[in-house]
Amino acid sequence: MSRIVMKFGGTSVADLDRIRNVARFVRREVEAGSSIVVVVSAMAGETNKLVALCRQAGPADPKLGMHDVEYDAVVSSGEQVTSGLLALVLQNQGLRARSWQGWQIPLETDMAHGKARIADIKGEALGEAIDGGEIAVIAGFQGIAPDGRIATLGRGGSDTTAVALAAALKAERCDIYTDVDGVYTTDPRIHKLARRMDRISFEEMLEMASVGAKVLQTRSVELAMAYKVPVRVLSSFDNPETPGPGTVICDEEEIVEKNIVSGITPSHDEAKISLLAVPDEPGRAARIFTLLADANINVDMIVQSPSRAPGKANISFTIPEADLDRAATLLSDAKDDIGYSAIQSDRNVVKVSVIGVGMKSHAGVASVMFKTLADRGINIQNISTSEIKISVLIDSQYTELAVRALHQAYGLDRAA
Ligand code: ADP
Ligand code: ASP
Ligand code: MG
Repeated sequence: MSRIVMKFGGTSVADLDRIRNVARFVRREVEAGSSIVVVVSAMAGETNKLVALCRQAGPADPKLGMHDVEYDAVVSSGEQVTSGLLALVLQNQGLRARSWQGWQIPLETDMAHGKARIADIKGEALGEAIDGGEIAVIAGFQGIAPDGRIATLGRGGSDTTAVALAAALKAERCDIYTDVDGVYTTDPRIHKLARRMDRISFEEMLEMASVGAKVLQTRSVELAMAYKVPVRVLSSFDNPETPGPGTVICDEEEIVEKNIVSGITPSHDEAKISLLAVPDEPGRAARIFTLLADANINVDMIVQSPSRAPGKANISFTIPEADLDRAATLLSDAKDDIGYSAIQSDRNVVKVSVIGVGMKSHAGVASVMFKTLADRGINIQNISTSEIKISVLIDSQYTELAVRALHQAYGLDRAA
């Protein structure tokens, strides 16, 4: 019997009506004869509320991290509620269903509370339950760490729960139901002319996710790629009887029609720090970035340029916006050791990335990007590249203008 994993995100389970609607999608797959695992997120907005409560209860000093074990105990609770509610709704419709928390599977993680990675899934009991005809409703986003405590998988982590379960159970496919009907060339909420893609390669989806397209958590795409899990993104707002085709994430070879650039992704989750007049000598950059690495702060786009002061350089870089206060405090405390004259920070920046496997074999993608932005008078502050991606940092007031202009420049607009 084929096994199918279905995952429903926060807006898809936002209230009891939406949960009843999810049950209609589940019933359809049950009636088609598959063994079903359903992974649910917390109700829309619930995890944000729980995170905010933890912040209010947590330490006021930004240098002291949150107590991540208790953070996990709190924020994992949203999924506990929705898994129980969906199981109840399914039971009331005469279907056999039960809820499973991460520790009951067990879905084992590492010790990185707050952003844990899955270490192992002992899925025998779960596999037996679903093959015996019971629908398993799993609380996404959570597992159990080696300390015996609940661990969460980082924001958006229910996607990863779903793909990891699909891999562990050797499921035929993993369907990710969300509030858009597939993966688009850019966020369809930002640009009306965005186009749904029938297919996107694992590699491009991975890059899109990692630069900030939150439609799938990055780690879920890594797992899908590593374990060759066929993933589909589709909408829970479609009619459950006639759902749309969604977007299939697959190997590059399975895609016939290829564009040089397949997507444009803006990310607001960025902040820029500039350190002015740092002595231009070996070891200074190492001090800055070791300090940040030790505090678990990820640094992204780095630019070093000569300062007006002789023998000095300005160093600017981006970090996640949520880490800005902590980074600024750490760097201010280390001012004498690093030797800079002033520190500046800027939250009003956005990283805009263009992604496409076609870049590997086609020249000129960067020049189109830079010229398009220059023609609109948009100044580029920082740049970073990978084999299939170019990212630029710009003033956030130009986000929509930049996305729309680039979308058109790379021929991605759908016919209006
Ligand atoms: P869920 O709660 O179902 O996990 P998310 O909010 O995490 O849903 O992800 C879905 C959202 O991702 C969409 O509402 C959309 O605004 C956003 N998104 C960003 N980039 C894209 C893209 N390229 N294609 C589709 N959706 C995108
Ligand atoms: N509820 C969690 C979050 O909001 C996990 C998820 O929805 O995937 O981040
Ligand atoms: Mg999500």
